[in-house]
Amino acid sequence: MNIAEKLRTSGLRPTRQRLALAELLFAQGDRHVTAEELHEEAVSANVPVSLATVYNTLNQFMGARLLREVAIDGSKTYFDTNTSNHYHFYLESEGRLIDIPNSELKVLGLPQPPHGTEIKQIDVIVRIAEAG
Ligand SMILES: [Zn+2]
Repeated sequence: MNIAEKLRTSGLRPTRQRLALAELLFAQGDRHVTAEELHEEAVSANVPVSLATVYNTLNQFMGARLLREVAIDGSKTYFDTNTSNHYHFYLESEGRLIDIPNSELKVLGLPQPPHGTEIKQIDVIVRIAEAG
């Protein structure tokens, strides 16, 4: 599926800006980016977008389930192109998220969510540092 089709099947009109940002996001396999990083990439690729537009577009992609959000400490938000259920290593020194292979971490015994609510997503962040 090309990127325009991917947007259309997700209910998003493939505008020029959405296409350009989607191209940066989805053309290189699974990745984790912040809005600031994506904005820098867009500027380097001569895509004329503001940081606010990048934020809006990322939120639209999230609403269309093309991305999921991973928040670290409430201050740093990464957008993950892999929307399947998976967990992350966080390398603090580089501010980098790395996927944990699904077979290597299992969450057992989920709590019963409060009445009238349901579990939406489970985030597990394993913080790592350079050894030694
Ligand atoms: Zn991930």
